[in-house]
Amino acid sequence: MKAVPFADLQLGDDAPAVRAAIDRVLDSGWFILGPEVEAFEAEFARASGARHAVGVASGTDAIALLLRAAGVEAGDEVLVPAMTAAFTGLAVASLGARPVIVDVEPGRLTMDPQAAAAAIGPRTRAMVPVHLYGQAADLEALTEIATRHSVAVVEDCCQAHLCTCAGRPVGTWGVGGAFSFYPTKNLGALGDGGAVVTNDEAVAERVRRLRNGGQATRYDHVEAGVNSRLDELQAAILRVRLQRLGEATARRRQLAALYRHLLPASVPVPEVDAGHVYHLFPVRVADRTIVRQRLADGGVETLVHYPIALSDQRAFAGTQTHCPVASHAAGELLSLPLYPHLSETAVQLVAEALTTILKGHVRA
Ligand SMILES: *Cc1c(COP(=O)(O)O)cnc(C)c1O
Repeated sequence: MKAVPFADLQLGDDAPAVRAAIDRVLDSGWFILGPEVEAFEAEFARASGARHAVGVASGTDAIALLLRAAGVEAGDEVLVPAMTAAFTGLAVASLGARPVIVDVEPGRLTMDPQAAAAAIGPRTRAMVPVHLYGQAADLEALTEIATRHSVAVVEDCCQAHLCTCAGRPVGTWGVGGAFSFYPTKNLGALGDGGAVVTNDEAVAERVRRLRNGGQATRYDHVEAGVNSRLDELQAAILRVRLQRLGEATARRRQLAALYRHLLPASVPVPEVDAGHVYHLFPVRVADRTIVRQRLADGGVETLVHYPIALSDQRAFAGTQTHCPVASHAAGELLSLPLYPHLSETAVQLVAEALTTILKGHVRA
């Protein structure tokens, strides 16, 4: 029996509303691209501070479709940060484009603007900053560099629902933002799902067409699109959960502040921007394997995001660059439990356990 599990995906007190939403769709007899998806798109756009939202099948597809809408083609180069879910790079690869992996800043571990500037070459068409763990990348510096070099900015917002950067919503800085509704994300479906947000009407229209086979009107396929549609069931479930997302995010921030108060200041990955939405709460420890085992012995479940830097992944062999900051962090990162219905007592238990372990013969 785990005292503190890493996550808990059981339905909470939103269960009756979620079941009612599912029943509503079952009774409607309409399952793909219908009124629930349309309503969710409008509601998610509003919540995200963007003019348009387009539902798609996953966060990975959202990235790939936005890149296509930004004009990225096979053979183009696209900058991606070295510390992220591998799917960021895989979305680029799925287009036949080449992910160019750039190192991250040592603090917040997001795409390093200087490394990005140095990696731009004649074939670079886009960059995909990742708002990692719920904290925005340095979009002020990155969009400035991108503009100077005529490189499109596609934001990977898969961990950053409701996140802002310098007070401005993520997903609205460049071409658009890609969101995931994978069940563990801050806004999670009961299956796969994703969305693109954008302020550019033409981009929204292009993604809308691409997600549905490239059809301009029914059976008229004007380009080679894909099948990447958000279904009515997931949209109806997401509409229920979106209503609580603000409250859930505030709770995540509150628990993160408590962790920061209780832990030695040098241990957590720093909060650089107050728009952080705390998808995850990673700390850095030198002897991770031992620390993780000791926490597990105390009933505290942890995960690692991510144990292998993108630049060290075999899937990207051949495009690899050396990214020392990300490679080093990959050996130290450890994510502590953090979710809205976690109790303060549980946070205290985890923080005390970790502090005790770090004070022992394991040095942080
Ligand atoms: C989850 C995630 C993705 C992929 O989203 P899926 O919906 O699983 O395809 C991409 N990038 C980041 C940073 C993620 O966390």
